[in-house]
Amino acid sequence: MSNTVRQTITCDVAIIGGGIAGLWLLNRLVNDGYNALLFEQTALGGEQTVASQGMIHGGIKYTLSGTLSGASEAIADMPAHWQACMEGKGNVDLTGATTLSDHFYMWSSASALSRMTTFLASKATRGRVTKVSRKDRPSVFQHGAFNGSLYKLVDMVLDVPSVVKTLADNCRERLFHIDWNKAQWHHLPDKKVTLDFTYDGHVHRLKAGQFVLTAGQGNESLLKELGIESPQMQRRPLQQVMVKHTYPHRFYGHCLGAETTPRLTISSHPCDDGTQVWYLGGSLAEKGADLSPEEVITNAKKELEELMPWVDLSKARWATLPVDRAEPKQRNFARPDKAFASVAEECPNMIVAWPTKLTLSPNLADEVIELLHQHSQLPSRGDAPELAFLDRPPLAPTPWDAAFGD
Ligand SMILES: Cc1cc2nc3c(=O)[nH]c(=O)nc-3n(C[C@H](O)[C@H](O)[C@H](O)COP(=O)(O)OP(=O)(O)OC[C@H]3O[C@@H](n4cnc5c(N)ncnc54)[C@H](O)[C@@H]3O)c2cc1C
Repeated sequence: MSNTVRQTITCDVAIIGGGIAGLWLLNRLVNDGYNALLFEQTALGGEQTVASQGMIHGGIKYTLSGTLSGASEAIADMPAHWQACMEGKGNVDLTGATTLSDHFYMWSSASALSRMTTFLASKATRGRVTKVSRKDRPSVFQHGAFNGSLYKLVDMVLDVPSVVKTLADNCRERLFHIDWNKAQWHHLPDKKVTLDFTYDGHVHRLKAGQFVLTAGQGNESLLKELGIESPQMQRRPLQQVMVKHTYPHRFYGHCLGAETTPRLTISSHPCDDGTQVWYLGGSLAEKGADLSPEEVITNAKKELEELMPWVDLSKARWATLPVDRAEPKQRNFARPDKAFASVAEECPNMIVAWPTKLTLSPNLADEVIELLHQHSQLPSRGDAPELAFLDRPPLAPTPWDAAFGD
């Protein structure tokens, strides 16, 4: 192989990682006139994005302690932002995407009733949470055996695969598959980097004004390989439970327990064969991270039996999904309050970013664009460069298709 650079290709911004963060950012940059490209190593929406529950929340969940935290302030205008994009009135076109629900619910177990009262009395919940009368309850809670109170949160639930597809379709010609066996970083004397692709025995060098790492947990190994020590990443391990069944009712909601994390979060997702999956998270998944799949499934059955004893899932199929949330490292392992983006130490053309929540992807794009402006990286309005020797990445399958697909 010859190490001589046969061709140098330039662009304004090269994004590494095509989850929600990278795809949203690509759409924003292209709309703003940047010549931006995205490189994905496996499948678009991979890892956390397709594994998420799709809830776009205004932070109400984070006011469970009864006080308005930094997280709830940063996140508060996100539902309206997403809604505007879904209606074609925002800064990213999401008109091709669909929602699964325009609200979700919250109810409390008997042991947490007083916490629920404190929560509802807090200023942060005003106008955003309403008590649901018996006749307006969702079908799953119409059963006579339920005698608690149910509240409705005016936040939506996205059909995440449709969002990923829409964002990818908007910029299809700017999406490329990257095979790291044939690509590598090249360090320049001024500490900037380029991305070199080997094809047909020759090196093709991509010079980007800025690279942006939005590879989720993949950022950690990319940073290591680049020799960058700051920023650093933390992982929040989960083991979600998937229940595929023919019980007819859909449900989206949190059950409030004794802690600040909801005791159980349920979202319902349609499958191609007309059945659905109830996807279970919250404390169940956090506490189940180190357990065996059988143990987490046993715990999930117990929780549903206790909280919704009338729901018959006896013929259901069960599976778990171990998955880590990737976040920028925080003191005391705290949950970050907003999207994170920062120029890497010792590498001036490398921005590292984690949205920390799907909801905060628009916030991440704002933060990255602010950094680009600070570094005088302005849109060149150029066409996507010719990289025909690279393939296009596919869309990631959902975890339930992967687990139950027969
Ligand atoms: C179980 C679960 C439930 C969640 N529910 C919600 C929710 O309801 N609401 C909410 O707001 N947030 C939720 N989140 C958080 C949310 O899903 C994540 O914050 C968000 O999806 C992160 O997006 P991302 O693009 O940064 O990462 P990812 O979705 O992980 O995407 C990273 C991409 O980078 C690619 N990649 C990795 N390494 C490389 C490499 N070296 N080169 C090229 N590409 C690479 C991966 O293949 C992947 O496609 C949830 C998270 C989990 C795990």
